[in-house]
Amino acid sequence: MEATNHLKASLVAAIALANTFGSAWRHGRRSPEPTVTAVQDVLRLTTRQAVGVEVEAYAPGGRRLYDALSCLPAGDVDAAVEVVNALLRSTKAAPQLTRHEDAPWHLHFGDPGVATGWIAEFATATAMLLGSGDVHRLRRCEAARCEDLFLDATRNRSQRFCSTACQNRTKVAAHRARST
Ligand SMILES: [Zn+2]
Ligand SMILES: [Zn+2]
Repeated sequence: MEATNHLKASLVAAIALANTFGSAWRHGRRSPEPTVTAVQDVLRLTTRQAVGVEVEAYAPGGRRLYDALSCLPAGDVDAAVEVVNALLRSTKAAPQLTRHEDAPWHLHFGDPGVATGWIAEFATATAMLLGSGDVHRLRRCEAARCEDLFLDATRNRSQRFCSTACQNRTKVAAHRARST
């Protein structure tokens, strides 16, 4: 169903925004300061609309989402719920059918023209995760110097790294450790 796919895409974007503002280390490097392009790349995961972006407007929400999602790998769903409920309240997330230009009617949980609207959207997508059986699929990358969170997409729940880059990095390091 389209509506569900839309929320799934918003969850992927929510995790990406959380990593953008919350991870101090990503893929082996110190995280760069988030840029307009970085935030726009995140939004492009869930909308085709061009959105004007001020980075500072996304920073507090992005960090809150990271705080919430970070509780999940340790199994502390209650703590995540507290943060997400607060975000839902402060952003006044509410379902609203919206239509931009020639796109069909679809559901948004905040005004897609402003940062608060997107944080409302991402908080809603995260709330759906917290209320589902998939909540245990949220993981933290196990590679050194990477704090990115990701959704384990494997059937047997065996994904340990956020990306093949981190997986390869870890393999090379293990190999080097063995051969010296
Ligand atoms: Zn839309
Ligand atoms: Zn990683």
